[in-house]
Amino acid sequence: MRVLVGSWIALILAVGSVGSVMAEQPCAANGPFFGSTPSAEESVFAPGVASTQWHDDWPPIFSPDGREVVLRVLGFVGEERRGTLFVSRMDDSGCWSNPEPLPFSGETMDGAMAFGPDGQELFFSSKRRAVGDSEGFSGSRIWVTARQGDDWSEPVLLDSPVNSLNVNGGFSLDADGNIFASIETESGVGAHDIHLIRKVVGVYPVVELLPGAINTEATEVAPFIDPDRRFLIYTTTVDDGLELRVSLPDGAGGWAEGRPIPGLDGQSPKFAALSNNGERMFFVSERFDVAANPPAVWSYEPYGDPVYEDNADLFWMSSEAILDMLGDEPQMWKPTIEITSFGEGLYRLATDQGAYTTNSLVFVGSDGVLLVDTQSEGEAEALRRVVKGFHQGDPKIIIFTHRHVEHVGGAAVFGEDPMVIAHDLVRTKLRSGSYLFDEFPDATMPDLSFADRMKLFFNGEEIDLVAMAGSHDDNEIMVHFKDHKVVHLSSLTNGFNLPSADGDGDVLAFAPLIARAIDELPEDVVIVSGHNDNGAWADLQPYHDMLVGTVNAVRAGMADGMGLEELQEAKILDQWEAYAGSYVSTDGWIEYIVDAIESPKESAPKEDIYAELYSTLNDQGTEAALARYLVLKAEHENEYDFNEFILLAAGSKLLAKDRAEPAAAFLELGTEEYPESDYLYYTYYLLARARLSLEQTEEALTACRRALELKPGNTTITSLLAEIEGGGAS
Ligand SMILES: [Zn+2]
Repeated sequence: MRVLVGSWIALILAVGSVGSVMAEQPCAANGPFFGSTPSAEESVFAPGVASTQWHDDWPPIFSPDGREVVLRVLGFVGEERRGTLFVSRMDDSGCWSNPEPLPFSGETMDGAMAFGPDGQELFFSSKRRAVGDSEGFSGSRIWVTARQGDDWSEPVLLDSPVNSLNVNGGFSLDADGNIFASIETESGVGAHDIHLIRKVVGVYPVVELLPGAINTEATEVAPFIDPDRRFLIYTTTVDDGLELRVSLPDGAGGWAEGRPIPGLDGQSPKFAALSNNGERMFFVSERFDVAANPPAVWSYEPYGDPVYEDNADLFWMSSEAILDMLGDEPQMWKPTIEITSFGEGLYRLATDQGAYTTNSLVFVGSDGVLLVDTQSEGEAEALRRVVKGFHQGDPKIIIFTHRHVEHVGGAAVFGEDPMVIAHDLVRTKLRSGSYLFDEFPDATMPDLSFADRMKLFFNGEEIDLVAMAGSHDDNEIMVHFKDHKVVHLSSLTNGFNLPSADGDGDVLAFAPLIARAIDELPEDVVIVSGHNDNGAWADLQPYHDMLVGTVNAVRAGMADGMGLEELQEAKILDQWEAYAGSYVSTDGWIEYIVDAIESPKESAPKEDIYAELYSTLNDQGTEAALARYLVLKAEHENEYDFNEFILLAAGSKLLAKDRAEPAAAFLELGTEEYPESDYLYYTYYLLARARLSLEQTEEALTACRRALELKPGNTTITSLLAEIEGGGAS
């Protein structure tokens, strides 16, 4: 009763002093979420307060502290259809203020809105015009305004190529500030598709179509991304209206096709967003129901009389049904390619390979796109999606730092047009040895090559290309962006971890090449490696000293008569253990050095066994190729470099090219020829996969079980075994 009396007095006071004592008006909405009572099932949200007799067609957006809300109302002001953003704030007593248009809103069509992660920025889509707009422009773009005390700054266009597109399908932001937006574009799958607009150091340079089955020929709009990217709610068109769906990460870098949310009554719910505390889901539904919308307590100026036609109302329900869909171990989605910026159009694009990253560079500017390294075939589609996301087209120039597959394998997805630049040896290398079995198309072959150094001028920058060959491989170059003071050092540094060398490399050549890099590069350069973390010029000298120190330690041990195993057991490289952070251990590095000292590089190169096998296979078939292998090994062993990898590498590459029949034959022979190999388990694993694709289930089972015997507990093998057993039973 005391409450009623108090209200009564306040009302008298308000009436008695018209227009002067606003603060003493009765409170129309009191407490969190306008004092609306939450229930588990869907219900109208704050009837008469937030859910009005006007057309409310975007969920209310509460600030992170829950004390401020932005509401959007659509309707006619005179003859003109306008979308207006209203703001209401809760004071310390819990009372919400009469919603007022945001200072910049009310004159035009403002659309979807979302707070930035910390609530200090408000993003909204709008058809408002910007200075310098062409006459014909009529699409929606994303604008941003920043909090200034109790007010908001003049909105500015988001700095992103997304604003050359029509962003009229709504959007939301994750906790890192990335924007998930529905965009109407011809390059998508359907009319409206969900895109990711990445935030990279305060700007939004990349707009990618979200990968996976989530985007279809139907319409996907109003994406609401969970701040932790565990799920994404969106609205799609179905036969008899609209449906809210939840998509989860698909485990393969994309988003799965969405599933309907249980417990919704099916009356075309749309445009969902979770509340700031994550406990409630707001959504919009057009259900004409005057009873659900009592007369509005607030005026919502500048709109005139309420419009009942085409009414949309705000609903809410518990978000538990969505959280239940996540299961016990929700995945937090991460884009396949991580982007970091060096400013002024230069970015590092990194893929996570588990024990290491593989790093490309992309340089975007007025001349177009230049790409350093294309990653492997498996990563290439994701890489291309990002490169295209800069909205400057495919690369004009591709540079290979060296010929290994994880640096060149993806080049073909960019087609014939890019000019490919590499060391002189790369073209020959990609057309010989085990690379023959990769069957790289002509598009991958370098168009322009050099032996020592060349200069390139692109996007107004001088780029130095310098051969630094002979350590990790014999065809490496460094790519130095002189204005940016950024260099890609190929696999010379390996992120300042112990490096690796292939058969054409020489571990003893690392130190002199690093010494050369110290001379060549300025002291303030940032060093990007083919794999792993970036470093600085100051890291080069200690890295050089480590290389010299480790080689000297192994030499000294060998001079004392120690063999490989004794050197490893004595842990002679213990003091450099900190450098064993990637895929080369100190034991592995000792082995590299011992090998290099014991068997210096051959002066006369050997014949190419892969070329013999490849041409015999293609001209005369599998059996002839295997017979040729056995004859050469028996009668000409010293003329070729026979080792345990040849049949394994050829079989693996044939399998990757869907040539399962010769792949199985090569791998089978590999198990017979090298039964003591450390890679026997892997040979059997690949053999099982080849047998499976030939539908030879029994043989696949035998090979897979043998692989598991050799490598017990290996999850890749156990899951293949499950796949074979599952397929065999059906
Ligand atoms: Zn390499």
